[in-house]
Amino acid sequence: MKERAGHGRAEHAADRQRPPEVSHGSWGHAVVIGAGFTGLLTARVLAGRFDRVTVLERDELPSGPAHRSGLPQARHPHGLLARGALIVEDLFPGVRAELAAQGAPVFDFGAGFATRLPYGWAPRRSVGIEVQSFDLTDLEAVLRARVRALPGVRVRDGFVVEGLHLSADRRRTVGVTGHHRADPGHEPVRIEADLVVDAAGRRSRLPGWLAAAGLPAPRRLEVPSPLVYSSRMYELTDGQAPDWLVAFEMTLPPSVDRGGAAITVDGTRRLISLVAPAEELPPPRDDEALQRFAATLRSPHFAEVMARGRPVSPVYRCVVGGNHWLRYDRLRGCPDRLLVVGDAFCAFNPVYGQGLTVAALQARLLARLLATADGPSGLAHRFQRRAARIALVPWLTATAADGGWSSEPTGRPARMIRGFLDVVLRRLPDEPELYARFARVQNMVVSPAVLLRPLLARPGRRGRRAARTRLSGPSRDR
Ligand SMILES: Cc1cc2nc3c(=O)[nH]c(=O)nc-3n(C[C@H](O)[C@H](O)[C@H](O)COP(=O)(O)OP(=O)(O)OC[C@H]3O[C@@H](n4cnc5c(N)ncnc54)[C@H](O)[C@@H]3O)c2cc1C
Repeated sequence: MKERAGHGRAEHAADRQRPPEVSHGSWGHAVVIGAGFTGLLTARVLAGRFDRVTVLERDELPSGPAHRSGLPQARHPHGLLARGALIVEDLFPGVRAELAAQGAPVFDFGAGFATRLPYGWAPRRSVGIEVQSFDLTDLEAVLRARVRALPGVRVRDGFVVEGLHLSADRRRTVGVTGHHRADPGHEPVRIEADLVVDAAGRRSRLPGWLAAAGLPAPRRLEVPSPLVYSSRMYELTDGQAPDWLVAFEMTLPPSVDRGGAAITVDGTRRLISLVAPAEELPPPRDDEALQRFAATLRSPHFAEVMARGRPVSPVYRCVVGGNHWLRYDRLRGCPDRLLVVGDAFCAFNPVYGQGLTVAALQARLLARLLATADGPSGLAHRFQRRAARIALVPWLTATAADGGWSSEPTGRPARMIRGFLDVVLRRLPDEPELYARFARVQNMVVSPAVLLRPLLARPGRRGRRAARTRLSGPSRDR
């Protein structure tokens, strides 16, 4: 089937437009709050324009890969979608190879994933999309080292930002205030800046800082999800590698509420996450109950690794709560020279694996705006409006799906998206061509619109028969 995915190729080409090269800038000093994935990418992009970039991070940062309290999600499997990986590689050439040298495998999304969809197994064949699986702490350590090496960039760890410093008329951000954690008196420190970027993640305190300055706070949209995550690292030492690099079992609100993900982080280690509503997931210390839970999944891979592998970490439980979007893009009276990026702006239910890629797309957007702007004034408004456009499709797909958890009636557009998704999912196990398109959509390489054409075409006889036999619903074979 010929794909009208000139679309996808055009987006790839656009991703390859490099941000301004790192050169001595002329826009003064930029401050980034948070040295997570988003903060690091943002610092890389700003380094092309500003004389100095300071990344302020509350945690004491390790010199290599290690867990830290400000990054609790790193205990759980993370997948960087193909689109996000492309942008990361453009910003930091050679990162994929560096991670691969540490053992993180690169593989085809179709061939390397063993994906249990709600209505059957995804076809196991190449879809032409390369992805890499890794531990988030490894990715962060590599990015952090690269950012630290950039001229004009300083990563100041152990510094807690506590508020904004505004111009007298409160129309412009002129810096931040905070304190060093090592300072016993927590003496307030003021840092002047020509641009401030909030990359403080889900726990950003910016709405409170704006309110404290007598300014309006953004409207918060929220779509909850009941799912929680229990994750643990296992080592497989029996020398028999499974025939998958990532095992994934998809949830589908409201009928399939149990799932999981298991990723290969290096030659021997697999990071497993079991996903279910809080009341169904056994407590972290109850090994036997977790094993029994894994055995209820339709994919055998989770129980297999748990039975064969040796646990090399405790079980970490994470309650995310779902999706939220702080509408800074619609906020009137927001001071200029203040940008909000990554999870601090819009955060998604992790089961959809979109957060890192949306943050990468925002970094690429910022690079483009910096390339054409005369200075930092007016940038914030333009950035936030266009960042909202980036967030929109991921937001609509995640929240439409999660609307299915709610007992309240959801809007018609959300019901239509759920209906469309259900039709696609029923056909995927028997239609490798459609699955290849779906994989491209999942990886944000092309727009979901590419699924419309094959769906409007009548399925072949085999597909119709298969879809009929699946009408009884996704939980049939549990
Ligand atoms: C269980 C789970 C699984 C996930 N799986 C995936 C996945 O598979 N794929 C995917 O794309 N995304 C996934 N995500 C989402 C992904 O983790 C986030 O989108 C991403 O990490 C957000 O990065 P960030 O830099 O915006 O925020 P964060 O990673 O939260 O970083 C914020 C940083 O700011 C620092 N900070 C906060 N406040 C202050 C302050 N006042 N002063 C100084 N520093 C401060 C914090 O210490 C932290 O280092 C998952 C999330 C969870 C919870």
